[in-house]
Amino acid sequence: MSRDADAVTHTARRPRAAAVIVAGGSGSRFGNPGGKQLVPLAGRPLLAWTIEAFDRAERIEHIVVVCPAERRDEYAAAAVTPYAFATPISFAACGAERQDSTRAGVAAVPAGFDCVAIHDGARPLIRPATIDAAVERLVSESDIDGVVCGQPSIDTLKLADTAGHIEATPDRSRYWCVQTPQVFWRDTVMSAYDAAAAEGFLGTDDASLVERAGGRVLLLDTPRDNMKVTVPEDLALVEAILASRRG
Ligand code: C5P
Repeated sequence: MSRDADAVTHTARRPRAAAVIVAGGSGSRFGNPGGKQLVPLAGRPLLAWTIEAFDRAERIEHIVVVCPAERRDEYAAAAVTPYAFATPISFAACGAERQDSTRAGVAAVPAGFDCVAIHDGARPLIRPATIDAAVERLVSESDIDGVVCGQPSIDTLKLADTAGHIEATPDRSRYWCVQTPQVFWRDTVMSAYDAAAAEGFLGTDDASLVERAGGRVLLLDTPRDNMKVTVPEDLALVEAILASRRG
């Protein structure tokens, strides 16, 4: 994919990065009527841990939190206001699908930012150093459109039919498991959203849209403990990891 002729890589200015934290899912698998983003986790709402990681990341200069429009005040009062984060934080309204939410978040990033780090609010264990490394890789590597955090698969993979019968065992050496953050040049990912909308394509992550549009996306091997809180049992594991980091 080609970027604008005046793209920041052709200027002396250091590219500026913003974060888009999507926290607009219904949390149906979590089972709590209010979703999972504000559930207490080691003394504060889950989402506040996620925001703190981005607040502490040196490369992130603005954070957009994407949540249901009617719950914006509740999210702000629970996960933002009490913590006096140093990075400016704004809000955007989520959409029906994750892809709608990430797009709304990227569109709400203020002017003047060159790249966006898109992250699931439900991944509170992300480390500031990982966020910075992903942004740094995008801005320092020539000719890539995005960077995705993940790890080579350590489990053997099976392709199954809908009834669970194994059809194939692919060579796992080229397979990765990926998470967020996923970092892109802002103009590139916006074009990819447009192309996906035109084709009616719905992806499970943002990289898949950039890939479809012909973009080159790099995988970055990052710590394995960046798990997503999906069911209530995940909270105990995440709390234990947070406690171990505090020593
Ligand atoms: O549903 P899933 O676990 O894949 O969601 C990943 C992240 O995307 C979560 O943080 C969730 O809140 C967010 N999301 C969203 N808007 C949606 C669906 C999911 O912001 N419509």
